[in-house]
Amino acid sequence: MTATDVLVVGLGPTGLGAAWRLDALGHPDWIACEAAPLAGGLAGSEVDEHGFTWDYGGHVQFSHYAYFDALMDDLLGEDGWYHHDRESWVWVRGRFVPYPFQLNVHRLPEDDTARAVAGLVSAARRASEGGPPPADFGAWIDAAFGPGIGEIFMRPYNTKVWAREPERMAWHWIGDRVATVDLPRVVENVRLNRDDVSWGPNNRFRFPRRGGTGAIWRTLGDRLATRHPSRLQFGRRLAALDTAARRATFDDGTVIGYERLLSTIAVDQLTRLSDLAPALGPALEDLEYSSTHVIGVGLHGQAPEALAGKCWMYFPEDDCPFYRVTHFSHYSPHNVADAATQWSLMAEVAESPHRPLRRADVVADTVDGMLATGLVADRAAVHHTWHRRLERGYPIPSLHRDRALARVLPAFEARGVRSRGRFGAWKYEVSNQDHSFAQGVEAVDAWLSGADEETLHHPDRVNARRPAPLKDRRA
Ligand SMILES: Cc1cc2nc3c(=O)[nH]c(=O)nc-3n(C[C@H](O)[C@H](O)[C@H](O)COP(=O)(O)OP(=O)(O)OC[C@H]3O[C@@H](n4cnc5c(N)ncnc54)[C@H](O)[C@@H]3O)c2cc1C
Repeated sequence: MTATDVLVVGLGPTGLGAAWRLDALGHPDWIACEAAPLAGGLAGSEVDEHGFTWDYGGHVQFSHYAYFDALMDDLLGEDGWYHHDRESWVWVRGRFVPYPFQLNVHRLPEDDTARAVAGLVSAARRASEGGPPPADFGAWIDAAFGPGIGEIFMRPYNTKVWAREPERMAWHWIGDRVATVDLPRVVENVRLNRDDVSWGPNNRFRFPRRGGTGAIWRTLGDRLATRHPSRLQFGRRLAALDTAARRATFDDGTVIGYERLLSTIAVDQLTRLSDLAPALGPALEDLEYSSTHVIGVGLHGQAPEALAGKCWMYFPEDDCPFYRVTHFSHYSPHNVADAATQWSLMAEVAESPHRPLRRADVVADTVDGMLATGLVADRAAVHHTWHRRLERGYPIPSLHRDRALARVLPAFEARGVRSRGRFGAWKYEVSNQDHSFAQGVEAVDAWLSGADEETLHHPDRVNARRPAPLKDRRA
């Protein structure tokens, strides 16, 4: 049996954050095991048989950490990125409305604009009267936006994204993730028929020039593997965990004893393969997730003028199965095989037991939806499609999530195991790449220097930080 001080399981952004920190601190005794042959996890990318690159869903970076930004600069270098304005839109009532939706309701048909504003006014009046906090996310939508925007956008959109009714979800995770309402500004925008958009000099994001989002994490994995060839172990899947004896058994029969374990696999899976399963099993029922279908559509020709600057688009209505489409060849021309004659769109469709779909039809339905919404003018423009189903796509902020986490995470911690990351800690509000990476870094710091794990314990504090503006450099 091998023995180590710190064992890291999984080399997505969270496990890589931990390995990066252990390396930076010169820790002498750690090992990281990953089931896949490559680092990256859900933030990985693939090149399909036609030479098109796809992410597992449209990945955009919203960093909340200066050290994360510095690492990104260092990993891919000055010239390794394209920079874009964060141009996002909502397709509704047969037209594009700029995001944030509530600031641009003047773009709706007149009746809908009136309904939206009346709803906001009634919501503001109710808020001024006080009252109990909303019981669930659905009630929060009604309280924040009123019935107009609730019915036109927020309810149908969220039902599609989360693959369940908003009444099945809590709302306290929201923080700054859903823009709330500035009523005088909304009214002024309607009066002046003025667009009020969220993109501009301080709203830029960057995307790897080549290799998709996965290039970031592959590069970091390669760098760490070069420095520590025996510490990073790929193709090794955790199969059983004895937390009492502090022993991890892998699918190839390898057994590793550890003092401290950072697990970044889904915490429900971790629990089921551990000796804590009998005690914690019932709590797992409160941990819900949705599955995500990612459908890449490779296209002949060039993106139409109407889509040229658009990054991603939200689709609340039922004329298509997807909730979001990313204009992926806009992120990098190298995401297609030949940018002179090809472009690409990438759609995300959510699925859950509360909102099942016909899996065999999801690709055809997506192409039909792109035709119905005008994203693609003609079926003959479709060059090919690519499809991946992610069993775990979104960790749901369900009504009793925190009750489950309060039971499960401390039980593991009492045995020297920190379960962290998108599905390791199951907190959607801190589950993007930067948050996940930070969770790995902070878990190591908590062990080695007793520091607080700010990202896990204070998501609102972390999310309130404004990211530093990216250099205004257009490629
Ligand atoms: C549809 C979608 C859209 C997204 N959009 C964005 C976005 O726009 N911006 C953003 O910043 N982030 C986005 N994300 C989130 C981003 O992908 C995650 O933050 C990140 O991948 C989470 O990292 P992680 O390491 O916690 O988990 P994962 O990436 O899931 O990594 C876990 C790793 O553990 C490995 N593993 C699993 N089981 C075992 C086992 N038994 N033994 C050993 N290894 C195992 C897996 O192979 C994997 O590599 C999106 C995610 C999805 C799914």
